[in-house]
Amino acid sequence: MKRQELCQLLQDELRHQYNTLEINNIVNYIWANLLKNSELINLSSMILSENAQIGNWISELKMGMPVQYVLNNSFFYNLELFVNTHVLIPRPETEELVNWILSDPKNESALTLIDIGTGSGCIALALKKKRPIWMVTAIDISGDALKVARKNASNNDLNVKFIQCDFLTDSTSVNETFDIVVSNPPYISNDELDKVGDGVRRYEPRIALVPPGNDPLIFYKKIADWSLTHLNRSGAIYLEMNEFLFQEIENTFRNAGFLNLEIKKDMQGKNRMLKVQF
Ligand code: GLN
Repeated sequence: MKRQELCQLLQDELRHQYNTLEINNIVNYIWANLLKNSELINLSSMILSENAQIGNWISELKMGMPVQYVLNNSFFYNLELFVNTHVLIPRPETEELVNWILSDPKNESALTLIDIGTGSGCIALALKKKRPIWMVTAIDISGDALKVARKNASNNDLNVKFIQCDFLTDSTSVNETFDIVVSNPPYISNDELDKVGDGVRRYEPRIALVPPGNDPLIFYKKIADWSLTHLNRSGAIYLEMNEFLFQEIENTFRNAGFLNLEIKKDMQGKNRMLKVQF
């Protein structure tokens, strides 16, 4: 099969839903995956469109499913990850959060870290890969998400301790203290969910996007409170946040008694990340 043939097939099939650039991105994703699979790459162009695997991918793409879920594959920082609809597709903003942690000179030594709401495991695993001497713990409420995270740990040969627990109601299952607390908690409101793309709303897990109840600060309040007793005095909390709530989130930590707060913008210039210290 030639890349150009795949391109032609996807143009024909998907042009009503996606523009040329989007189709080209999908082709790139699929092509990169095919290169790993000699059986499919050796297909002759005659039977390309009749191949069951490619046919399934095309029908899922036509339904609007993001290509990462179609292929069960995504890239994050220094890792290739398995993803399915039980976990969020890792975002570039979250890579920036990982980068911030790694670029802090204080974070070169042997440290303990907890990732709250690990989903695919992307944050915990990218950090463990870069800092093998760190002791990394990752928790999530969802058993299905943890299956994905464990699979990613094993595929990438990384040793992370995973714990299933509901951080909001049962944080007692984690009783150690940590040098770094990191989280990309659910932070989209129900109103905002109506405005995000179809692929996000229809396929990404709601539990990972929208916090429970009507309080968009619920995870930040709990992380602030919990960290008073679980963050080592010289440690730091790194969080991803909703750009519209950065002031409220900052105040949540200030009111809890934290003195050192630093907000960082993402590559789109939005107030996206917060670092908190005692
Ligand atoms: N930690 C994962 C990520 O950053 C999952 C986040 C979530 O589900 N809210 O993608």
